[in-house]
Amino acid sequence: MKRQCAPLIALATLSVCLIAVACRTVPETGRKQVNFMNPADEAALGLTEFNKLKQEKPISKDQGYNALVQRVGDRLSKVMPVPNAEWEFVVFEDPSPNAFALPGGKVGVHTGLFQISQNEAGLAAVIGHEVAHVVARHSGERMSQGVLSGAAVLGAGYVLNKKTGSNGVIPTAALGGAALLATKAFSRKQELEADRMGAIFMARAGYDPQESVELWKRFAAWRAQSGQQSTPVFLASHPLDETRISELQRYMPEALEDYKKP
Ligand SMILES: [Zn+2]
Repeated sequence: MKRQCAPLIALATLSVCLIAVACRTVPETGRKQVNFMNPADEAALGLTEFNKLKQEKPISKDQGYNALVQRVGDRLSKVMPVPNAEWEFVVFEDPSPNAFALPGGKVGVHTGLFQISQNEAGLAAVIGHEVAHVVARHSGERMSQGVLSGAAVLGAGYVLNKKTGSNGVIPTAALGGAALLATKAFSRKQELEADRMGAIFMARAGYDPQESVELWKRFAAWRAQSGQQSTPVFLASHPLDETRISELQRYMPEALEDYKKP
């Protein structure tokens, strides 16, 4: 009996150790997260992915769009803490209203976003939100959660297999689920956190953070009009529009405080 439990105890101990060494605090919100990804590895992954996208997707030559994105990017990158960032802001020819930021400071904006961002502050709200995911290291957190749930599943599968005499089908199937979790879009909690942090960053860059509320209202209207089918990836797991707007308003005073600082 003792011997059967040994791997399980080792797994549990390993998980506890990983959590202990990998606990970090998210800047601005102070939330504790478990993240055992290495920031340098995250940045390397971000760079590889960004280079791939630049090969695959057409890059916009529109001077107006490019100048606008560079201007907003310059102002925001000065206030957003991404260690060892090599900032790059690229406009992609893509009609879907989307934007993304990858670890290492790589930011992509679709031409389709401008119909909803509408003005410079609106664009700052979107880029601020996307880079906030990077600052908060939400991808690493998701991956860490995936690894931990994989470990938990392995442990549960081990016990179950011992009881049923099965040969490992259960953990394999369940591990697939854990891997899926790791690659899935950000969680609702992470999205709301990125909203809150994004408003702070745009305020520090000199943009009125209240414009972020207007931006998400425009997104809500666009989404209602176009239907869920065409929901861009970065909105797919997003919380209900009313929730995000009310949460954003709840945290607005802290962003406004930064905006009013001389
Ligand atoms: Zn997001």
